[in-house]
Amino acid sequence: METSSTVVETLPQVKEFVSGRHKMLIDGKLVEAASGKTFPSYNPATGEVLAEVPEGDKEDIDRAVSAARRAFEGRWRQVTPSERGQLIWKLGELIEKHADEFAQIESLDNGKPVAVARVADVPLAVDLFRYMAGWATKIEGNTIPLSVPGGGYLAYTLREPVGVAGQIIPWNFPLLMAAWKLGPALAAGCAVVLKVAEQTPLSALRLGGLIQEAGFPAGVVNIVTGFGETAGAALAAHPGVDKIAFTGSTEVGKLIVQAAAGNLKKVSLELGGKSPNVVFKDADLEVAIPGAASAIFFNHGQCCCAGSRLYVEKSVFDKVVEGVAEQGKQIKLGPGMDLSTQMGPLVSSEQLERVCGYLASGRQEGAKAVIGGQRVGERGYFVAPTVLTEVKPSMKVYQEEIFGPVVAAMPFSDAREVEAAANETIYGLAAGIWTRDISKAHSLAERLRAGTVWINCFNVFDAALPFGGYKQSGWGREMGHEVLENYTETKSVCVRIK
Ligand code: NAP
Ligand code: MG
Repeated sequence: METSSTVVETLPQVKEFVSGRHKMLIDGKLVEAASGKTFPSYNPATGEVLAEVPEGDKEDIDRAVSAARRAFEGRWRQVTPSERGQLIWKLGELIEKHADEFAQIESLDNGKPVAVARVADVPLAVDLFRYMAGWATKIEGNTIPLSVPGGGYLAYTLREPVGVAGQIIPWNFPLLMAAWKLGPALAAGCAVVLKVAEQTPLSALRLGGLIQEAGFPAGVVNIVTGFGETAGAALAAHPGVDKIAFTGSTEVGKLIVQAAAGNLKKVSLELGGKSPNVVFKDADLEVAIPGAASAIFFNHGQCCCAGSRLYVEKSVFDKVVEGVAEQGKQIKLGPGMDLSTQMGPLVSSEQLERVCGYLASGRQEGAKAVIGGQRVGERGYFVAPTVLTEVKPSMKVYQEEIFGPVVAAMPFSDAREVEAAANETIYGLAAGIWTRDISKAHSLAERLRAGTVWINCFNVFDAALPFGGYKQSGWGREMGHEVLENYTETKSVCVRIK
């Protein structure tokens, strides 16, 4: 991977920010960890240390939760829905104003191509805040007609913020995941403590500065950097937290549920996936082939909804597999800050090891790599786009989430067979269907046990469209108005009027 003239110059403000002294946002102040400890965040394109950030732990979580509680019971309550909406909108505007900066921070810290972050992660985060700003004034209850004998009652519901929300996010879309969590919680009137992933803390720390600039009252948003086992676990178990929202692996999701049991805080979970992507022989293959390639290779396969099980109808199997392999071969790997890069490194050495472990297990169990199948280079955490065939349902590469650019391709004979295969997983996050036959498309969409079904497209996200999992892919939904359920309680008020 030679460097080329298409490498973008790091903006001076990004250089200054990244190399600066990083502080977390707690109680309206930018602070270090109480222990004074820090930990490194790495540049995955080189494996070198990018920045040192505060290592927040239980004590910092305690401080943040107390600040959130004070804000929730104090200043934040007095802020009108309209003012709340304006603050959220302003935060979106500020991110947009600093869009180039955020795209570079995201690329340096996470490894993703800066050009992708600039057109996907950052604008989607801005849009999410704008969409949720609108909801702040529209969270309404109902009037309820009662059938109590004799009548004479007025009954209505109020939808109230659930209180202090703890939120824990992963590293694959650091800024966007922060937006998915903060936007709806703030629209609903909650106060928040957000724990970001140790691999990618920088964009959320920059966001902390903008939250200050937007003018949120102290303590409404607290952002803590630190490790899952310490800061994350303390937040999930905290008796002062009313609700925990988690995005990450199914394995850690189960720990969150256990930790939340202490005070029975409300829980919502966005977890892993092993999403089926089904190509019928009557699909427009000119669209389906690049679609299936991007379903798995987008964000280096580090998407919870990645189309990692590709089912292709027998008569077009070879053609589709060759086509997807050809697309994979064309992908230019390189550092995210190079504009010609189409796929950057995986996020960390652990992730590299994990994905390479799956590739080895696939080989051992008899899968065949049509392309890829190995690490690329010695520096940075690059893995070649990989297409596996001769995959059997008993294999780990078929059953488990790899979270890398690795797709398992299997042939199928008819709709009934593929429906059974697609649903044969502990997950249920997303699915793709490619066909020109609308009744086939809609009837399969109905029978797939997945929270999102994309037909003749994949990875289409919109702030208005709910996203979340069936089965072990999660509880509750993100985005759309459905996400507001996660952050509100319904109060029934019954008045005797006669
Ligand atoms: P992860 O290991 O589950 O970590 C996610 C977050 O949980 C991180 O902030 C992590 O902290 C924290 N954490 C780890 N152990 C914890 C504990 N015992 N208590 C509380 N918090 C803890 O997942 P990941 O490897 O970062 O992300 C990949 C996974 O996320 C994949 O399975 C993917 O499918 C899933 N994901 C799902 C969605 C969705 O919307 N459904 C979106 C993105 C990712 P540290 O990183 O600081 O240790
Ligand atoms: Mg990093």
